[in-house]
Amino acid sequence: NQSLEHSVLERTRELQEANERLKELSITDPLTGLYNRRHFQNHLQEIWELAKRNHATISIIMCDIDHFKEVNDHYGHMMGDQVLKEVGSVLKNSLKRATDFLARYGGEEFIIVLYDTDISAARELCTAVQNNLKAIDGFAYQEATIPPITLSFGIGSMVPNERNRFEHLIKMADCALYQAKEQGRNRIVLFAEDDR
Ligand code: GH3
Ligand code: MG
Ligand code: MG
Repeated sequence: NQSLEHSVLERTRELQEANERLKELSITDPLTGLYNRRHFQNHLQEIWELAKRNHATISIIMCDIDHFKEVNDHYGHMMGDQVLKEVGSVLKNSLKRATDFLARYGGEEFIIVLYDTDISAARELCTAVQNNLKAIDGFAYQEATIPPITLSFGIGSMVPNERNRFEHLIKMADCALYQAKEQGRNRIVLFAEDDR
């Protein structure tokens, strides 16, 4: 009896661990190890409700690697993957607060959600990322080394209210990122309401 009870407990523990691993996998981007887009959506939805209750500002930074296609074209896809991983770590290491959230949004695009953080603090974070990227001499993969790469940043910021949905905040950051690209890349653009 005791040994049956023991094996049931053992089996339950194994199942719990397997479940946790599965959950971890379902929210992780396999290449960079960062959270994936699905988890970003869930996170933003939750933090949005919290910010609404607390009248707190949420800032979203959307950033995209500049001329990334050239990296793949000139140095191959493996180098491209290496750059994605390293840029992911630079972004992650640039975050400061426990509530700062980073995910890979898509291809060479990353997204940061900052709870209770205004637009100027979000801009400071982007500047820190730029400096941390500059500090890397270049990316190396096997024998090849490529020159430093840059990011373009778009920032949207708002206190959630009944009139807005969180999709609108994503749109603001996206729109600002588009302008950062238009203006020549390697820059930080803040969304202004009259841009709409
Ligand atoms: P821009 O400055 O306008 O952003 O130019 P870009 O070249 O960075 O943008 P574009 O959208 O033309 O190209 C993005 C490239 O990113 C194309 C795609 O093959 C590559 N890419 C997307 N996901 C991955 C990935 O997981 N690994 C690698 N190696 N490349 C990827
Ligand atoms: Mg790009
Ligand atoms: Mg892109």
